[in-house]
Amino acid sequence: MSTAGVEPMAAGATALAAADGPLAAARHQLATAARELGLSDGLHELLATPRRSLTVSVPVRRDDGEVEVVEGYRVQHNYSRGPAKGGIRFHPDVDLDEVSAMAMLMTWKSALTNIPYGGAKGGVAIDPRTTSPPELERLTRRYVNEVLPLLGPEKDIPAPDVGTDEQTMAWILDTFSVNAGFSVPGVVTGKPVSLGGSAGRAGATSRGVADCALWWLERQGIAPRGATVAIQGFGKVGAHAARYLHDAGLRVVAVSDVHGGTFCAAGLDPTLLLDHLKEAGRVNDFPGGEPITNAALLAAEVDVLIPAALSGAITAENADAVRAGLIVEGANGPTTPAADAILRDRGATVIPDILANAGGVVVSYFEWVQNMQSLSWSAEEVFRRLRITMRKSFSEVVDRAGDRDVDMRHAAMAIAVERVADAHRSRGLYP
Ligand code: GLU
Repeated sequence: MSTAGVEPMAAGATALAAADGPLAAARHQLATAARELGLSDGLHELLATPRRSLTVSVPVRRDDGEVEVVEGYRVQHNYSRGPAKGGIRFHPDVDLDEVSAMAMLMTWKSALTNIPYGGAKGGVAIDPRTTSPPELERLTRRYVNEVLPLLGPEKDIPAPDVGTDEQTMAWILDTFSVNAGFSVPGVVTGKPVSLGGSAGRAGATSRGVADCALWWLERQGIAPRGATVAIQGFGKVGAHAARYLHDAGLRVVAVSDVHGGTFCAAGLDPTLLLDHLKEAGRVNDFPGGEPITNAALLAAEVDVLIPAALSGAITAENADAVRAGLIVEGANGPTTPAADAILRDRGATVIPDILANAGGVVVSYFEWVQNMQSLSWSAEEVFRRLRITMRKSFSEVVDRAGDRDVDMRHAAMAIAVERVADAHRSRGLYP
């Protein structure tokens, strides 16, 4: 990955950022913020390094009786502002580098939205699409057992991420609670409502993504009705974002998943597309559109592009082809630093992941607050609070970007890193 235009980092952190990959990208963003904020080299290095990383071997009994051993991870990047918080990802490409990067992003996301959490992430290198539900249950429970000492409602609180869902959270809750000897609903968020999950959690990330896009369009004086959007990824984040934006009057002209995309200049109907996906398992053969490649989707002539799949989707190789004026990062880390620079030079706006997709962890926080107080809020109450929190963060980022003449990622990172740095300074160093 290119590091052109980057000022030197602290010596130790520079060495750590030399490698390519998501962690190098996350450290690159931190280095830029650290420089802008004048952080000491020591504090910068502390924030470039996870506080705790645990790698575990997870033996899983397959349905045919064979035992397979897969790697699992839980990384707590930082917990100076509160318990570590972040999802668990099941994906064949999961590794320690990616999990560490994602844990760091969670720290900034919590700080930016000013919820009292640090950042964590977990992952297991397995493909949930080729793993049966009973295998997934055994795998989840064994993984939780291996990382059990790290978890707890005041220590580290997992949530769904790529390849996991509310059923996974229910198994985690149960495994943790059986070990504790009593029910501990606050140990995970994004769980079923029947177990203390929050109303509105399922669509929360997408609501935040859609609202960020709408608020930006409003600021530019662009009417939502007729504005066009392309969405990469039609999973938990992309599918709901498509629906909210469609309902707000935007034309969703292109959508893709791992198999490829579908395009319709007159606009796709997200509800029909979701029905089709449930039946066919893919979107590119949707009868209401024409098949397109993922590369063509990223290059679509649209007002808004939402990368809502995996990290590293927009790179130095394809950033030049991106036509959208606004990129809203539904995924974590979808734009590499080199691609970011290309988009910035072209005058495109990127609403960064730590702002755009923060709606999920914000409602996770509301879920945890309800669990800790044995309360249950209505969906309206959750949405009202979510909107207030997201709008405040959005305005803070836009204002700082305007004041300092920087892009939204720089502004968001500076606000977040400053809050975490302040917490470290106030707490001091032990011993
Ligand atoms: N996995 C989501 C994210 O990356 C949600 C995390 C959470 O709710 O803790 O933001």
